[in-house]
Amino acid sequence: MKILVVNSGSSSLKYQLFDMVGETVLAKGLVERIGSQGSVLTHQADGRKEKMDFESPNHEAALRKVFDVLTASGTGVLKDIKEIDAVGHRVVHAGEKYASSVRITPEVVAALEECSELAPLHNPPGITGIRAITKLLPEVPQVGVFDTAFHQTMPKEAYIYPIPYEYYERHKIRRYGFHGTSHRYVSMRAAEMLGKPIANLKLITCHLGNGSSIAAVDGGRSVDTSMGFTPLAGIPMGTRSGDLDPAIVTFMAEKDGVTAEHVVQKILNKQSGVLGVSGLSNDFRDLEEAAEAGNESAALALTIFANGLRKYIAAYAAIMNGVDAIIFTAGIGENSKEMRSRVCEGLKFFGVAIDEEKNNCRGIERDISMPGSKVRVLIVPTNEELVIARDTRAIVFS
Ligand code: AMP
Repeated sequence: MKILVVNSGSSSLKYQLFDMVGETVLAKGLVERIGSQGSVLTHQADGRKEKMDFESPNHEAALRKVFDVLTASGTGVLKDIKEIDAVGHRVVHAGEKYASSVRITPEVVAALEECSELAPLHNPPGITGIRAITKLLPEVPQVGVFDTAFHQTMPKEAYIYPIPYEYYERHKIRRYGFHGTSHRYVSMRAAEMLGKPIANLKLITCHLGNGSSIAAVDGGRSVDTSMGFTPLAGIPMGTRSGDLDPAIVTFMAEKDGVTAEHVVQKILNKQSGVLGVSGLSNDFRDLEEAAEAGNESAALALTIFANGLRKYIAAYAAIMNGVDAIIFTAGIGENSKEMRSRVCEGLKFFGVAIDEEKNNCRGIERDISMPGSKVRVLIVPTNEELVIARDTRAIVFS
C-alpha cells in the first residue's frame, strides 16, 4: 500500500511517498517558489538527491511535476501514478470541528474553508493542495490531518481566555494550539520508550523549531498547550514574540503611526523572538556560535528563550500535579545539546537530572536522564509525515 503525504504552504509543497509495508519512505521532496517565476523541485529517492528548475504557476502544476518525477522511466519509484492508494494532507486549522483526522469530502473542505478565517495564512494553501489532488487523482481517497486536532481534548479552563465569554460564543476566540501531530507522535513514542501505558503518564512535550510550542499531555490527552488562538503565543520563537502584554500592540501602533495589524503580522510574527532580541539571526546555530564568541545580544536572546521554556515546563508540571517525562523534539529540541542542558539545569529543583554524555548527541531518539532522575528526559525526533500516513491508512483502509 502506497500513501502520499502532502504538506502545502502558500508558495511551497512538501511531499513524502510511503510504502506502508514496513513504513518506508520511497521518495520525498520539496517544491519552492510556486506562483513565482522559476520554481525549484528538490527530490530525493534511492539515496539520490536531484534539483530541478521548472515553471509552476500553482500547486496543481507543482504536483504534476512531482508525479512526473515519481513515475520517470528508469529513475521513478512508481511505474504508474495509479499505484498511489491514498493521499494524506497536513492542514493547520480545523477549529472546533474536528478532534481527529478525517476523510476528505466536499463537506470537510467547506468546513476547512470556514476555518480559514482563523488561519488566513495557513489554511488556504492546505485547501489548495486538496483541490489539486482532487483534480489530478479524482478516484484516490484523501484524508485531512490537522495541527489543532490533538489539542481538542483540552478542558475548558485551558482553552477559554479570561476575556468576556461572549467573544468565545460569537467569534470562537479561544486557545486552539498547534503542532498537534508532532505532540501526539512524540508523546506516543515516549510512552513506548518508557515501557508504560500512555494512560498512566504525565508528559511535557517541547516542540522547539522555527515555531515552538509546549504541551502538557496527561494520560495521552493534551490538557494544555502554549500556542493559542494563533501560533504567535507561548514561548519566544525564531521570529515570533510569544506571550506579551497585549497593550504593547496598540502602544507600538500609536507611537509609530502604523496599524495594529502591521504590528502583529509584521513585527510580532516576523521580526521578534530571538531574531528581534539578538538583531542577528533566528537560527539557534548562529546564536549559539555568536554567544560563545561573546556576543551579549545573542546570549540574552538564548537566555530569554531558555527561561520561557523553563517557565512553561514548571507551569505544566503544576497543571498536571506532576511530570514523568520531558520530551525534546524538532530542530532545536533534537539538535541543541546546549539548550537541553540549560533548560534541564534550571529544573534540577524538581528532580530533573540529565547525563551530559548521553545529551551529547544530535537528531537521535534517546533517553538522556541520569538513572536516578525523578523526571525522565527524552529526545524524540518528530515524524509528522509518518503520523499523517498512518492516520490516512487507518481511515481509508479499516
Ligand atoms: P524546524 O522548524 O523543526 O525545522 O527547526 C529549525 C530550527 O532548528 C532552525 O532554525 C535552528 O534554529 C534549529 N536548529 C537546527 N539544527 C540545530 C543545531 N545543530 N543546533 C541548534 N539549533 C539547531
